[in-house]
Amino acid sequence: MRRDLAVLWHPCTQMKDHETLPPVPIKRGEGVWLEDFDGNRYIDAISSWWVNLFGHNNPRINAALHAQIDTLEHVILAGFTHEPVVELSQRLIDVTPPGLDRCFYADNGSSAIEIALKMSYHYWHNLGCTEKTRFITLTNSYHGETLGALAVGNVDLYKKTYAPLLMDTIDVPSPDCFYRENGETYAAYSSRMFTAMEKALEQSCEQVCAVIVEPLVQCAGNMRMYDPVYLKLLRSACDRYNVHLIADEIAVGFGRTGTLFACERAGITPDFMCLSKGLTAGYLPLSVTLTTDPIYRAFYDDYKNLKAFLHSHSYTGNPISCRAALASLDIFRAENVLENNNHLSRIMQECTTHFAEHPHIAEVRQHGMILAIEMIKNKQKREPFPWQERRGMQVYRHALQKGVILRPLGNVIYFMPPYVITPEQIRYISQVAWDGIELATGK
Ligand SMILES: *Cc1c(COP(=O)(O)O)cnc(C)c1O
Repeated sequence: MRRDLAVLWHPCTQMKDHETLPPVPIKRGEGVWLEDFDGNRYIDAISSWWVNLFGHNNPRINAALHAQIDTLEHVILAGFTHEPVVELSQRLIDVTPPGLDRCFYADNGSSAIEIALKMSYHYWHNLGCTEKTRFITLTNSYHGETLGALAVGNVDLYKKTYAPLLMDTIDVPSPDCFYRENGETYAAYSSRMFTAMEKALEQSCEQVCAVIVEPLVQCAGNMRMYDPVYLKLLRSACDRYNVHLIADEIAVGFGRTGTLFACERAGITPDFMCLSKGLTAGYLPLSVTLTTDPIYRAFYDDYKNLKAFLHSHSYTGNPISCRAALASLDIFRAENVLENNNHLSRIMQECTTHFAEHPHIAEVRQHGMILAIEMIKNKQKREPFPWQERRGMQVYRHALQKGVILRPLGNVIYFMPPYVITPEQIRYISQVAWDGIELATGK
């Protein structure tokens, strides 16, 4: 701990917080468990920032990686290729919505977003539509931290400081169903909110390259959720207005919302799909931007015409990372993961139904394996706890003592566990969350 604090600068952290709550040194992991050097064990209820799918130290993934390390650790992907990246691309094209036929790799989610933005713009450029330079984004959205990705995101906490550095976007109100009227369904509210998107497209489609969304759950935006109908309406509007649709499934992909990809819930194919986080089951950095054949074709020409997409990252398509992704897809194929998740998500729901009656819980919402509990100061007046009070952090501290990692988003506590969690462990983390919320809201 001391050595860490002398030399590290941790991500997304006010380092001064560590004066009172030092970082937890983790020695090893196994399944849903992480273990520190004093032998304390923690259930990783947030999948180590939404990346882990099949537990830590997974024997099947470990074996695949050992074999790959002894064969080929890395090779430049320009001018060369290798078995894991070819096989992974074939498999991804197979399992993603029909029409996504090309894979472009990077090594983190933000870069996958940058690639989608650049490709979309460049596609229109190659077609001679040089007036298309802008992007439509939803309020409360999050697409990463690099400047392009940050620009198309919309969470003030991460974005505001850097505003002078960022490209201008067209911001459309999110279909975030937290704000639906009493008695209004998710579907009704989501469709109602689409009128703003329709209007923005109608007004600006000529300057717009693409609309970018997080399908169904705005994860970093406090796990706010909406109905698949919005994606259906958006797909058809993007077609009508001649604008691309970028689906950022970096957080929701690989089964989190119930289906393998959230877009399946709406039966749509986006023009670009960005994947990372769960792609390697939480093992290694890798991301991919999938796109369609028509888009790929717009770049395919004689070199002298200068239409190629000249973008690269050093570790693009790393073989070891690709092996982790393949091993993860093997697990999806060999085991009834989605069916089993369906069962687990029902248990998550059952264990938290009574939370909705709590005087300081505004809502319990869920899409599949993502369940969020929003704390509120005054339920009747819908008045939030001031962010300065950091109620979520109090739940976090309580949960750590009880051996559960429940890193909050502001006043929102959520479960996004690895798929190897058991019903009994779900009951336990629910009880810990309840007690933590009682403590945090009791004064
Ligand atoms: C995490 C995340 C990103 C950024 O991915 P990084 O690998 O952290 O750069 C982008 N979009 C969504 C929806 C995310 O959850």
